Amino acid sequence: DELAELLRSHVREVPDFPEPGVLFRDITPLLADGPAFAALVDGLAERYRGTIDAVAGLESRGFILAAPLAHALGVGMITVRKAGRLPGPVLGVDYSLEYGTARLELRSETVAEGSRVLIIDDVLATGGTAAAAIDLIERSGGTVAGLAMLIELVALEGRSKITGYPLESILRY
Ligand code: IMP
Repeated sequence: DELAELLRSHVREVPDFPEPGVLFRDITPLLADGPAFAALVDGLAERYRGTIDAVAGLESRGFILAAPLAHALGVGMITVRKAGRLPGPVLGVDYSLEYGTARLELRSETVAEGSRVLIIDDVLATGGTAAAAIDLIERSGGTVAGLAMLIELVALEGRSKITGYPLESILRY
């Protein structure tokens, strides 16, 4: 559609970043374009208005999308962070990446019992990050109402790790 085409025109493809063989999708041109960034946030707000109680952003680029969306919807923002960034007590989950492992943490007090949480990030790749975030939100007593990704890298089959949850992406590559 029109929104997707506008946004797609502002995503830069960078070969061999951050390592050889990886085609990186760079959203910095989109964020730097006022009308495109506003259209993205407005589109998400229209889609989710009235259906969620909080937006959970995944560090780091997920924060950039989650904060204006939470504001537009008048709901709170939850920060799902990389290891060691949040003062305790925190819940944590270790998950595997293509090479090595990573850890996400969350202060469970920031999730109201039974609240409907939308998880948001810039890119769904293998789905490990999103699956870890689902685990943290649910262990904190929240309900994952959905996941919204600006970009879905379809060939990496991240969606197969997220079965049972409404997952929407705006751009698919
Ligand atoms: P996953 O856990 O493999 O799905 O990787 C998703 C995480 O890696 C997200 O938090 C993204 O920000 C980041 N990521 C993976 N590929 C890209 C990319 O091409 N561009 C920007 N971020 C990416």
